[in-house]
Amino acid sequence: MRPWLLKETNYGAVKERCYEVAVLPLGATEPHALHLPYGMDTFEGDLIGERICEAAWQRGAKVMLLPTLPYGTQTNQRGFPFAMNINPSTLGAVIADLVESLVQQGIVKIVLLNSHGGNEVKSILRELFGKSPAKLFLSNWYQIFQDVYHEIFQEPDDHAGEMETSLALAFLPELVARKADGALAADEGRKAKTRFEAVNRGWVSITRPWRFLTTNAGAGNPHAATAEKGRRLMDLLVERLAGFLVELSAAPVDERFPY
Ligand SMILES: [Zn+2]
Repeated sequence: MRPWLLKETNYGAVKERCYEVAVLPLGATEPHALHLPYGMDTFEGDLIGERICEAAWQRGAKVMLLPTLPYGTQTNQRGFPFAMNINPSTLGAVIADLVESLVQQGIVKIVLLNSHGGNEVKSILRELFGKSPAKLFLSNWYQIFQDVYHEIFQEPDDHAGEMETSLALAFLPELVARKADGALAADEGRKAKTRFEAVNRGWVSITRPWRFLTTNAGAGNPHAATAEKGRRLMDLLVERLAGFLVELSAAPVDERFPY
């Protein structure tokens, strides 16, 4: 029984302890190309959340990992079956309610650990700022290793490509679909260009319709993925985020927090 993992621990253990920090992972339910599970982003929230909280707890952090929210914003994946959407405004309302549940018991240091690019989480921090006593922090974990990305991976990954597939091979190998010859049951994850250069070059942005962007819901070539790359990435995520949780747990919430 791990006292830092809410879905597993019990009231008897919790009432004996005090907690300083709560971590809420945000997942999604959406197709991940032809070879990864619909729950990939939710599994990532569990896997990364558990490893960073365990490492932080062992270093003295008073941290609690909440269950991963299994749904996210999927409006632009609507062309695919079982892309289970909750709108940005609904997601904001759900997070605000969960934050309030923590604040009313005195936990104000809250970390949102987001696995899904479609979740617009920063706007929720802005909306609650000044309204709630909560001190909210956001990590889109898939964006925190760009400086070393190409030391580990060959191909860029938008969705279900080399990076995510490597995590799946390392931690969920039984859920990665393969062909009879052992190769990944995936295509090349090619992305289509729009008819507008300004959009293709990032001068103007859109919400991309994934049915036209991709061939089979994957964006990024997964075929160079290995379990070893997935383990290296996980070590890096733990190194970068567990230390933060330790510092956050020990930090007093004073007038100038977090400065
Ligand atoms: Zn994903």
